[in-house]
Amino acid sequence: MIGIDNALNIINENIKKLTLEKKDILSCLNKTLAEDIYSKDDLPPFDKSAMDGYAIKSEDTRNCGAENAAEFDVKGSIKAGDYCEDELKPGEAFKIMTGAPLPKGADAVIEIEKVEVKGNILKVSQAVNKDNNVIKLGEETKAGELVLNRGRIIRPVEVGLLASLGYGFVHVYKSPTIALIITGDELVGIDSKFERGKIRNSNEYSLKALIKNLGAKALSMGVVKDDKDNLREKIKYALKNADIVVSSGGASVGDYDFVDDILKEIRADIKFTSVAIKPGKPVTFATYKEKLFFSLPGNPLSLITTFEELVKPAIEKMMGRQIKNKEIFPVILAEDFKAKAGRKKYVFVKIKKDNNKYYAYKTGSQCSNHLKTMSKSNGIIIIPEECGNVKAGKILSGKFIFK
Ligand code: AMP
Ligand code: MG
Repeated sequence: MIGIDNALNIINENIKKLTLEKKDILSCLNKTLAEDIYSKDDLPPFDKSAMDGYAIKSEDTRNCGAENAAEFDVKGSIKAGDYCEDELKPGEAFKIMTGAPLPKGADAVIEIEKVEVKGNILKVSQAVNKDNNVIKLGEETKAGELVLNRGRIIRPVEVGLLASLGYGFVHVYKSPTIALIITGDELVGIDSKFERGKIRNSNEYSLKALIKNLGAKALSMGVVKDDKDNLREKIKYALKNADIVVSSGGASVGDYDFVDDILKEIRADIKFTSVAIKPGKPVTFATYKEKLFFSLPGNPLSLITTFEELVKPAIEKMMGRQIKNKEIFPVILAEDFKAKAGRKKYVFVKIKKDNNKYYAYKTGSQCSNHLKTMSKSNGIIIIPEECGNVKAGKILSGKFIFK
């Protein structure tokens, strides 16, 4: 049995290569940029009006006031998308729409709401500053400027930004494909009637949801009976067709727990077979020709915990994401919690904020079958390996889950 930090280091060392792919920007949503993005142009590419109004020379309004209006000849109108060839002369104005390029000679726009117009004559009764309501050429971005760094996660705003910079396709890190092997003779589908001894297969759905949440791809191999030959074939197929294989159940030392035996038979390189955490001790991690294999326990809570703590960091690294530990923060126990020394314990709790401090409350039985407890929880507290029972008031590390 090894500690979780050690386990994470071993997993990390065994992620050999990150694969890149060039994708259209919409398909890059939530992926990590694998190249630096430079602006090809000055943006905006011309001085443009930020308002519907009149383009003028600010100089012409220098002495203007309520008693001293300036009058301009309106020479025409410029709408967004037009380009005006005429040069503005002193005493002249152009009507201009938001987004339209300023005519040569103009250096300010006064809003439509602030002027009087009679026929072709515009009256301005206030001084207008140079660059008023003008978005200057290159004000947002200069040609050649580094706009997005490699490693950035592409959110909807970056999709729009890339489009504005003229990038339809960019390089991102390829999401790994994760094959799922769900073992257990006791499992029936969601719609099936319970026969004696059977339970519903929830793990397949939890795993698919966890993977979907990360933006990775699941390759489901469905439920595999606890039959060694059948399971061996499924494991071989999964290792051939996915980057990571995650199995559920059959991970322990019961008579029908075959996963470790099969990994030995096919000469996978088994790195560890149990981790000192609760829930979730029986986790095997192995590599096979640069593919990663995680055998997770079948208990629903153990499965989700081990996925979150061990598999998710591997998937995130393959997706080029920065693995951050900063989400952990101090949490004060609002109640006593029972625990046994020996393993690091992840306890599902409700974390509430009060007076800028976080407090942990119980949400129910921590039996590793009880998904309901997890569903009532918004976080976990981590009780260190050496600790047994912990008293209310103690400060432990905690974090929010599924955020
Ligand atoms: P195992 O790890 O195969 O020994 O299974 C441990 C516990 O988890 C048993 O109570 C199983 O019935 C339960 N379990 C195993 N697989 C699933 C699954 N796919 N969905 C829900 N519960 C499961
Ligand atoms: Mg089983």
